[in-house]
Amino acid sequence: MVLPDLCLERNREKTDIEYINLDLDLKPVFKGKKYFLRTYGCQMNVHDSEEIKYYLENLGYDACDTLEDADIVVLNTCAIRENAKDKVYGYLGRCKHLKSLKKDLIICLAGCLMQEPHEIENIRQNHPYIDIIVGTHNLYDLPKLIAKASGKQNIEVYSNSDKVYENIRYSRDSKISAWINIAYGCDKFCTYCIVPYTRGRERSRKMENILEEVKYLKNHGYLEVTLLGQNVNAYGKDLNLGYDFAILLEEVAKIGIARIRFVTSHPWNFTDQMIDVIAKYPNIMPYIHLPIQSGSDDILKKMNRKYTIEEYKELFNKIKKKIKNVSVTTDIIVGFPGETEEDFQKTLDIVEYCKYDGAYTFIYSKRVGTSAAKMPDPTPMSEKEERLRRLNEVVNKYSLMNNQKLLNKEVEVLVTGESEKGSNKVCGYTDTFKLVNIEGNKDLIGKIVKVKIIDAKSFSLDGIALPEEVKN
Ligand code: SF4
Repeated sequence: MVLPDLCLERNREKTDIEYINLDLDLKPVFKGKKYFLRTYGCQMNVHDSEEIKYYLENLGYDACDTLEDADIVVLNTCAIRENAKDKVYGYLGRCKHLKSLKKDLIICLAGCLMQEPHEIENIRQNHPYIDIIVGTHNLYDLPKLIAKASGKQNIEVYSNSDKVYENIRYSRDSKISAWINIAYGCDKFCTYCIVPYTRGRERSRKMENILEEVKYLKNHGYLEVTLLGQNVNAYGKDLNLGYDFAILLEEVAKIGIARIRFVTSHPWNFTDQMIDVIAKYPNIMPYIHLPIQSGSDDILKKMNRKYTIEEYKELFNKIKKKIKNVSVTTDIIVGFPGETEEDFQKTLDIVEYCKYDGAYTFIYSKRVGTSAAKMPDPTPMSEKEERLRRLNEVVNKYSLMNNQKLLNKEVEVLVTGESEKGSNKVCGYTDTFKLVNIEGNKDLIGKIVKVKIIDAKSFSLDGIALPEEVKN
C-alpha cells in the first residue's frame, strides 16, 4: 500500500504516461455465491462499478438485490461532499451487523473516499471487520484481493498514477447507452475539490483506442455513448500528439453512432472548434453541462476556476448562438468560504441571465486536504441553507419555463427503460437531455421514438409516443 500525501501531490511533476494493456485471466471460482454492490457519487463512479461488476461476475458471483443475501459486499464510495461520506459510514453499520452473523462475508470498500489517507487510517483503527480496501487507480486488483481475503485487512491503494490501462472490461448496466472513459484525473485544482487528489493527474487515453471502443459499442447495438472525463474537454492536452477534444469528438461523430454526449466540460477548455463540431454533427447532442459554480468574480478567483463572469457569458452566448436548440445546465456552489450576500446576489444574477435548463446546486462542503478547507468561513449554515433555497427557487423557475416551451411539440426520445411513474410507462431522454415519461409499453425500450409532449414539470416531461420510429 502507498498512502497518498495530499500536500506533496499538489507539487507533483509531469512525467510520461505509461499505457498498459490489461490481460486478466478470471476463473469462475466463486460460482453459486452472490455479490451486493452499492455505488455512491458521479457517473465516473457508476462506470467504475461496471468494471467492478465485470470482475465479480467473471469470478462466478451473481448479483443480489439485498445485502443480507450477499457473500461479498462492495461499496464504491464518493468523497465529493461530507454527506456522501456520511452515507457510506452509515451503511457500514448494517454491513458490520451482517458480518457478526455471517463470518465468511467479505466486505470491500472501493472508490474516491479510499484515496484519502485519513479515511484509510480511520478504517484501520475503527473498522477492522472490513476485508478489502482498493483505490481508484487499481480496481483491476480486486480479483487478486478477493482471492487473498482471509480475515486480515488487505489494503491496496496507490497515491497517484501515471498509468492508463487499456482493455478494461465492463459489465455494462445498459445495452442501449454506454459510458466511455476518455481521460482520467484532473489538473485544475479548483480549491474546493478533492478530485485531483483522489483521481490523480490528467491522463488521456489514446484516440485510436477510444474510437475502437465506440465502433465496438455501435456494432453491438448501442445507440448512445457518453464520453467521460472529470474535465472532459481538456482531453489530449497531456498527450502532445496534435489532437484535442474537438478532433476526438468529430472522429467519434463520423463513426455514425446515433447519439453522442460528453461530461463534464470546464468553461476554460471550451474551444470555438468544439462549438463548431457540435453544431455540425446532428449525432452530437445539443446539450452542454457547463459548470459556473459562482456568479461572483471574487469567489471564482478564490475557487481557482480560471474564468471571469464576462468570459463565461461570452462563451455561453456563443454556444446558444451557434448550436441550434441547445440546452445548457450548470453546477453552482453556495456558501463558499467568504461568500457575501453581494457575491450570492451575483450568482442569482447569472442564473437570471443564462436561464439554465437545469442546475445541480450544493452548499459548499469542506474537504480536508484542499486549499479552500483552510479559508475562513464565517457564514452560518442557516444562512447558507437560506441562500440555497433562494437559488433553487430561481433555478426551478427557469427549468419549468424551458420545459414548458416543449408543450405540444414533437421531440425525439431515446427510450432507456421503464418509468418509475406507473406500470404502463417507459422513460427516456430528448436530444437536449430532458427526462420524458411516456405512455407506452416496453417494446419501445431501446428505440428512438417521436413523442408528443403533453405536460411539463421542472424536472421532467410527460409525453405520448407517436407511431413513427426514428430511423438511425
Ligand atoms: S475541474 Fe472539476 S474535477 Fe477538476 S478540480 Fe475543478 S471541480 Fe474538481
